[in-house]
Amino acid sequence: MKKKLLIRIFFTFMLTAVLIIGGLGLLVHSLKPDHELSPVAEKNAIFYLSGLQQKLNGSLSEEGIQNLYKDLNLYARVEGFEPLADRQGLPTFAQIEKEDEHYSKKMAVGKHRNYFFAELKGALPRTAWFISADEIPRGFAFPFVAVAGFIFLILIMSFLTIRWMMSPIKVLMTGVKRISMGDLKYRIKTRQGGEFQVLGEAFNRMADGLEKMVAAKEQLLRDVSHELRSPLTRVGVAVDLMKDEAIKESIKEDLRKMEGLVAEILESYRLREGASSLKKSSTDLSELVFHVVEDYKDTAPGVKFEGAANASVLIDPMQIERVLRNLIENATKYTKPHASATLVTLTQNKNGWVLKVKDDGIGISEKDLPHIFEPFYRADSARSPGKSGFGLGLAIAKTIVEAHGGHMSVQSRLGQGSEFIVHLSED
Ligand code: ADP
Repeated sequence: MKKKLLIRIFFTFMLTAVLIIGGLGLLVHSLKPDHELSPVAEKNAIFYLSGLQQKLNGSLSEEGIQNLYKDLNLYARVEGFEPLADRQGLPTFAQIEKEDEHYSKKMAVGKHRNYFFAELKGALPRTAWFISADEIPRGFAFPFVAVAGFIFLILIMSFLTIRWMMSPIKVLMTGVKRISMGDLKYRIKTRQGGEFQVLGEAFNRMADGLEKMVAAKEQLLRDVSHELRSPLTRVGVAVDLMKDEAIKESIKEDLRKMEGLVAEILESYRLREGASSLKKSSTDLSELVFHVVEDYKDTAPGVKFEGAANASVLIDPMQIERVLRNLIENATKYTKPHASATLVTLTQNKNGWVLKVKDDGIGISEKDLPHIFEPFYRADSARSPGKSGFGLGLAIAKTIVEAHGGHMSVQSRLGQGSEFIVHLSED
């Protein structure tokens, strides 16, 4: 599962936060009396500008204006004396009038492009004063830096909050995943309190129930299998007394299958009880594989063995042989016309020995692949005539390999073939 919920909550938070900030910002901005000068500030400004105006009137020349610029970094546009101002690209009087947002009776102030301007009303000659916006010290670029910082802070805070909110869901998700993978003993830790604690406890109760249910089902299957053994033997003895050979053989064949099934079920339970039931001895795995492969040489589509010699491992040879026979028999059973021989390989890696059985038979669909190691699971394609079985072989094989501390995996594509891989650690 992708983190869709997390992303959704995150975006909802962000959108809400940005909208609130944006809305508040607009509100504050629209309410704020921008650039409005206090009466005292206006008096000061008028006084200052009048002084400048007088100074300029006394030296109304290009040089006078340039001197002012040199001394004070102030630009001036004087009506009737404008060539210098035009050369420097200063706003015209018409542009100033347009931008003059804060008109008081005595002066106009505003901003045009990169210039702040101020003009005394009624002064003669008409003079406008400019100062480049770069000259006005503004500390840092408020409000953009502040707003960006604030948004960044909100981003981090919401991410951390949501992660914190999501943490109990994550715990639950892990529980669901573990249980669905068959780890029925897994329980989640319910420390959080509140709704999630209630949910967690309910989850654990459900897992308890599930575990008990599965255990009861397994026990029933085990008991029934156990109880079936003696009646099956008695039926076998009775059948031997029958006269009609054809019927007798057919019933005996069915009986053999039933006894085989019962034996497999009981054996799988015995193996699941752990490694204690294994009779381990130091064995040359490559020799074992070689002899098993020999037995299937003449069974279509044939078997080939490629692998290392002297693969000494501590295993229960009978059980590992059983795993290998099951894999080779499956490869032979689930074959298709013109399939090439099954390839058995034995290689060594840093963790131990890897035994692979590869065929190019009917393959396994994506839908069936995750289930084929489950007891009694058979793919639809396996239910065709000539492909008999109970779906227990791979479940038993996996149990055997795991009882040895190894693991088993499969790669397969429908119609293209399968490869079963057994990893065994070195002794
Ligand atoms: P069985 O062969 O008795 O059905 P297994 O446990 O050995 O039971 O196998 C389970 C299922 O896995 C089979 O029914 C079949 O669908 C699939 N399977 C196993 N081996 C192969 C294989 N080599 N090629 C294709 N399908 C396979």
